[in-house]
Amino acid sequence: MALEFNSGSTERMTLFVDVILPLPLPKLYTYRVPFDWNDHIKQGSRVIVQFGKKKIITAIVAAIHETPPEIYEAKYILEILDEHPSVNPTQLKLFEWMSGYYLCNIGDVLTAALPAGLKLSSESHVQLNPDVDFNDFELSDKELSLVSALHHRESMKYEEIAKLLGVANPYNLVKSLVKKNLVILFEQVKEKYKPKREKRIRLNVDLLEEDHLETVVNQLDKKPKQQQILLHYLTRVPVINHPHLNEKGITKTSLLQEEAISPSSLKTLIKNGIIEEFEVIIPRFDMSDDDEFPEVTLSEVQTAARDEVLQHFNDKNAVLLHGITGSGKTEIFIDLIQKVLQGGSQVLYLLPEIALTTQIVTRLKKVFGASMAVYHSRFSDNERVEVWQGLIEGKFNFVVGVRSSVFLPFDNLGLIIVDEEHETSYKQYEPAPRYQARDTALMLANFHHAKVLLGSATPSIESYYQATNGHWGLVELNKRFGDAQLPDIELVDIRFLWRQKNPTGLSDKLLQTLEATLDKHEQAIIFQNRRGYSPYMQCEECGFIPTSPTCNIALTLHRYANELRCHISGHRESIPHACPACGSPKLKAIGIGTEKIEDDLKVYFPEAAIQRMDLDTTRKKNSYQDIIEAFEQQKVDFLVGTQMVTKGLDFDHVSLVGIFNADRMIHYPDFRSLERAFHLMLQVSGRAGRKEKPGKVLIQTYNPYHSIFDLIKNHDYVSFYQQEILEREKFLYPPFSRLIRITTKNESQEASLKTAQALQKRMINKLGKKRLLGPQAPVIDKIRDQYLYNLLIKLDRGKVDLKKAKAFIQESIDYVLSKKEHKGSRIVVDVDPV
Ligand code: ADP
Ligand code: ZN
Repeated sequence: MALEFNSGSTERMTLFVDVILPLPLPKLYTYRVPFDWNDHIKQGSRVIVQFGKKKIITAIVAAIHETPPEIYEAKYILEILDEHPSVNPTQLKLFEWMSGYYLCNIGDVLTAALPAGLKLSSESHVQLNPDVDFNDFELSDKELSLVSALHHRESMKYEEIAKLLGVANPYNLVKSLVKKNLVILFEQVKEKYKPKREKRIRLNVDLLEEDHLETVVNQLDKKPKQQQILLHYLTRVPVINHPHLNEKGITKTSLLQEEAISPSSLKTLIKNGIIEEFEVIIPRFDMSDDDEFPEVTLSEVQTAARDEVLQHFNDKNAVLLHGITGSGKTEIFIDLIQKVLQGGSQVLYLLPEIALTTQIVTRLKKVFGASMAVYHSRFSDNERVEVWQGLIEGKFNFVVGVRSSVFLPFDNLGLIIVDEEHETSYKQYEPAPRYQARDTALMLANFHHAKVLLGSATPSIESYYQATNGHWGLVELNKRFGDAQLPDIELVDIRFLWRQKNPTGLSDKLLQTLEATLDKHEQAIIFQNRRGYSPYMQCEECGFIPTSPTCNIALTLHRYANELRCHISGHRESIPHACPACGSPKLKAIGIGTEKIEDDLKVYFPEAAIQRMDLDTTRKKNSYQDIIEAFEQQKVDFLVGTQMVTKGLDFDHVSLVGIFNADRMIHYPDFRSLERAFHLMLQVSGRAGRKEKPGKVLIQTYNPYHSIFDLIKNHDYVSFYQQEILEREKFLYPPFSRLIRITTKNESQEASLKTAQALQKRMINKLGKKRLLGPQAPVIDKIRDQYLYNLLIKLDRGKVDLKKAKAFIQESIDYVLSKKEHKGSRIVVDVDPV
């Protein structure tokens, strides 16, 4: 815009920029550009600005123009951080769309989008880069004194640096050090950037030429120990036929682990320049040396499915691949990704948080190697910055990532894969933007004119509806790869356990089958969707139940940690010895969580290795991975866990899956509970009996006559869908409507209700009783000392202008909040809640 006639011109033109600040602000702010920078300012670049009296923060230039703001005098921008913009125009478009669609501040979108390392501010910390030696650089006195100060401390804040150097604005100085890669910036670090290194060895490259190698081997006839090392290397790395394999070499440790290898002979070989030692930084998802590179050829059925997908892409922008567990959806994805990458476009592969394990990443890494990046919330911020920058620089053209990877700076997307598209974790609940990554991906693809392929064994009702009504293409894959059989699913009626007062909740049938599994040296997964030992405690005398002081729920008993915990706020307290209400010592644990199942199984099967996988055992950075690896390597016989055990994992020796209790899932009061129960049970069943072993699934229930079980037993997704879609239509739920949930929050229950009522009153005439429900207190109506009330708005699809309706809702909220009596309330809007 203004830029075009500005660039190169010598005229002193006054430029202004509208910037997005990473703060919960609804508007863009205007700053003035110093004349000298007229030629350097670009849309999408990061700039440093002062906001308010003290705040110094990074903002993104959304627009450049010549109009000064009307109501305030524009401050100058303090610094331009980017030579090349960090954010491209398509991203800006996406941010704007998200803020409009999800009714949130564009600043909130930016906060979610930008890795903290790209947002330096007065709160940023500066750390030395452990990889770079500052002796390699010529530094100014000030730079040198900062670097040496950092040598003695972990990190420093901007203010501290300013003090140390006696300057007001250290940004320029720090920027130049960042450019030299000498220091690293970070904010709210969870983990510092410390690369893992590994010593490796390989042949001196000169030996690979002509017959040098043979000569050297022969020369070593008299030194058998050295010769042996060389020969060992050659058997592990077939460099004769594949010279490029030498570059990677093998790890020094793996060589020295071999029995007959002498460390001193290796030293000599290195000294004589025959073998070369080198160091590498280990990537997060590493492959072992022994990994083969198997060529996958799609089966006939898979090829047909792939061709069908391509066929649909001729006239549809999105295709749903509905393939049962183990049908080989991933292989089809890989095939299509290769095609798109060869065509020169970028690809994004979205996975839900929890499914993004080494299993899938390793498989993809084998195929795509260094051109593939992984974007994961467990990564440190620096690793995320690396992916962001790498994408801009063209280092990667393929990203595998969790929901926040929709924010990455793609400039040429050709395909987005949304794997396990039914997963509710694609939706962000808290904080804003409360976005659904699957839906955002569809919009993102639209901006790029890219295609979207969604995959699931149990598609969401919404997606299957889109795929069967002609909006999207539908491809079905009903056969497991290699004729592997679907597991046999059997119900276990546990009403008698009640009569027997059996305290373990484990039926004889389940116990016997577990024993048989152990005898055959096979593995089992037991799924129970409640963590902790017991969901609550209760006094046998007076009925008192210890509840959370901050939230309206019972405290969960955790035996291992020896405490009661609130699963919402994280509040902990020690286990009372007597009833806090009546003083009776008869305080009993009620109900069964994963800890108790683990405990009880240990009593029944003292010889079995039992592992639990839930939020409590996977808090540490690698613990999730470690548990999965141990299970893969059959170091664990029984894996007991929550939802985590149900997702996308592929184990070869699991022949039994036990669903501890199906009933709570089915009867939860939410219109999606049946769908969710169906997904969970079929997904966890899918873990049983992959490859040649047929699997068995046992579902324990008090309610064996519920109609959902026949559908599950027959793996009958389509009938389930047909049944469910009728209900949705009857009660005007998605996909027949769009939902908007509005929640009021206040420390006072009465005030929260009053705000909700005022909002209801403001909107009811326009929306009508059928479209506006509530106010109603949610199941858990007090969270972190705030009382909640919900209003639910159902907007009929096709009949209501969504944009107008949202504008009306926003106006109504603003109106209510502008009234004095509602000042203490917060109002949260969730568009398309799940
Ligand atoms: P899904 O994602 O549909 O559950 P996967 O893609 O994980 O299924 O495939 C299930 C298993 O079958 C995996 O171990 C995979 O490696 C294997 N497999 C699938 N298709 C092929 C193929 N064409 N050639 C070799 N192995 C395959
Ligand atoms: Zn009591």
